[in-house]
Amino acid sequence: MKPSLDAFKILGKRLVNLVYPPSCIACSAALAEADGLCPACWRQIPFITHPFCQRYGTPLPVDHGSMMLSPLAIADPPVFTRARAVARYDGLARELVHGLKYGDRVELAHTMGQWMAREGAEILSESTLLVPIPLHRFRLWRRRFNQAASLADAISRQSGIEVGYETLLQVKATKPQVGLTRTERAANLEKAFKVNEADLTRIAGARIVLVDDVMTTASTGNAAARALLRAGAASVDLLVFALVAKAG
Ligand SMILES: [Zn+2]
Repeated sequence: MKPSLDAFKILGKRLVNLVYPPSCIACSAALAEADGLCPACWRQIPFITHPFCQRYGTPLPVDHGSMMLSPLAIADPPVFTRARAVARYDGLARELVHGLKYGDRVELAHTMGQWMAREGAEILSESTLLVPIPLHRFRLWRRRFNQAASLADAISRQSGIEVGYETLLQVKATKPQVGLTRTERAANLEKAFKVNEADLTRIAGARIVLVDDVMTTASTGNAAARALLRAGAASVDLLVFALVAKAG
């Protein structure tokens, strides 16, 4: 009997595991399967669970029933429709983001993107285009790759939704957002994003999911969403790996 394709796949996987034994992506402990976390590290990820704000994706202290909105979402709703995040930007979630962003651990994007695809399943099911939040060229050159694009890539492999790598361009070199007040952040980001003229037909009527590694406040997502909506997008949601619990 001829060995099936599956048998070849299993054999191939075994050979890979022999050369690169699967290990925890955070602490390198031995694992049975690749691209995962060991149980001890898994418990250290501050996953966001129900209830959370339907607009900002931030965790809520109590379940308010069907209309789950944070006070911020009522007082100051975001430009994007919904934000969703895998975890709070804290503990091991923060370490993974730093590993991806500054530690040159591009391979983390694969696992982090898989979790994002699962967490964002609801918004992805209605989406037609993934758009990574761009880095300014200068920062892209210094950091060599855009972590948001790597995450969008991984989400696309899971969901089959195409990625507009160049749909959104950052035209103004923004100052780092860290340490700025909310108003300063908004001013810093005003006109920071521009849509690529070559992608206008792609944007028209599209249901877009913006992809980024972290949402600190909503200002980056709002500025990007505003540019895409002005260019004719039907809707814009935001999917991030981690968010600061009081983001907004
Ligand atoms: Zn571990």
